[in-house]
Amino acid sequence: MKKLKPDKQGYYGEFGGAFVPEMLYPNLYELQEQYESILQNSSFQEEFKSLLRDYAGRPTPLFFSKNLSKHFNAQIYLKREDLNHTGAHKINNAIGQVLLAKRLNKKRIIAETGAGQHGVATATACALLNLDCTIFMGEVDIDRQKPNVERMRILGAKVVAATSGSKTLKDATNEAIREWINNPVDTHYVIGSVVGPHPYPDMVAQFQSVISQEIKQQLKEKTGNGHPDYIIACMGGGSNAIGAFYHFIDNGKTKLIAVEAGGEGVYSGKTAATIALGKKGIIHGSKTYLIQTEDGQIVEPHSISAGLDYPGIGPVHSYLHDTGKAQVVNVTDQEALDAAFHLSKLDGIIPALESAHALAYLHKMNLKERDVIVINLSGRGDKDMLTYQKFV
Ligand SMILES: *Cc1c(COP(=O)(O)O)cnc(C)c1O
Repeated sequence: MKKLKPDKQGYYGEFGGAFVPEMLYPNLYELQEQYESILQNSSFQEEFKSLLRDYAGRPTPLFFSKNLSKHFNAQIYLKREDLNHTGAHKINNAIGQVLLAKRLNKKRIIAETGAGQHGVATATACALLNLDCTIFMGEVDIDRQKPNVERMRILGAKVVAATSGSKTLKDATNEAIREWINNPVDTHYVIGSVVGPHPYPDMVAQFQSVISQEIKQQLKEKTGNGHPDYIIACMGGGSNAIGAFYHFIDNGKTKLIAVEAGGEGVYSGKTAATIALGKKGIIHGSKTYLIQTEDGQIVEPHSISAGLDYPGIGPVHSYLHDTGKAQVVNVTDQEALDAAFHLSKLDGIIPALESAHALAYLHKMNLKERDVIVINLSGRGDKDMLTYQKFV
């Protein structure tokens, strides 16, 4: 577990760091200096844990799926992050960072969102903890993701349209950063995955690590052994994956598998399979693998699931991949859809399209009957009904 910590400059091996414009140095420096002591503080931990328990609904169950186990002839458990308040693991990080912002005496929260899931989680935490909330979202995404935009507004957040460039996530990110530079004293910027400049990847990983802490304890209660043979999680930026892996890294037994979005196929030109295609570079303030052209331009990614539609991965995952501590695989849009419908019929759980990528990989494994597999079911499928309707 210790080995997962980045160094003082935020590096996991050669990945990570903080590559930001000079005007952001004061904001980041404050966070870098303070986040660790705030997170270690016992009254912070107490407040965080009690909100995770009584507000978000943790611990989420670890469900032994008899039906999946029978189908795949192995021992298959689902970690039910879909049962969290707001329907996914993102609330763990949103609550953590908004609490942290309060300890830093910030009055105001900003965040960027693509599909709107992180925006909804952040707006939720801000409503609960009484902080002013502004969410930046590309104009195109505002059109595509109406229900989440309405949710944010009902929760009291201001949704600001990013109207430059492709009017999607990266443009919303630019707007949020500009806003942060202009308001360094009273504003905290909540990033939604283990991406961005140091200390975000480590901070978000720590907030999400509650997932693997619970898995270990719950599996021990159920089987007498807290260490499964495999943990499988989908990977966009990688926050649910690192949360599910955190307490199992280097345990000498558990194989950690992160599943990227293959889109229409790794070589189709419509993919978000970062490790399969990516080269080292800098994206959103950290050094990591990303999908880029020969001359270093970021390539527009594609995935059927909005949450995996990202051209990079968190630096910690580049490190885990390069050191062989985790394995990165990919499945296609179609395989994810099939897996989502399969689980819906088999177990009565409609998963998020993102989570369905993790499930789909089960179909490609060579499992033994005694293998214990935990799938991190990162979210529920309500938000994906429009897509599911088209294919069912
Ligand atoms: C946002 C999201 C993801 C992808 O983000 P990670 O940081 O890679 O976890 C995965 N699943 C669900 C349900 C999401 O909402």
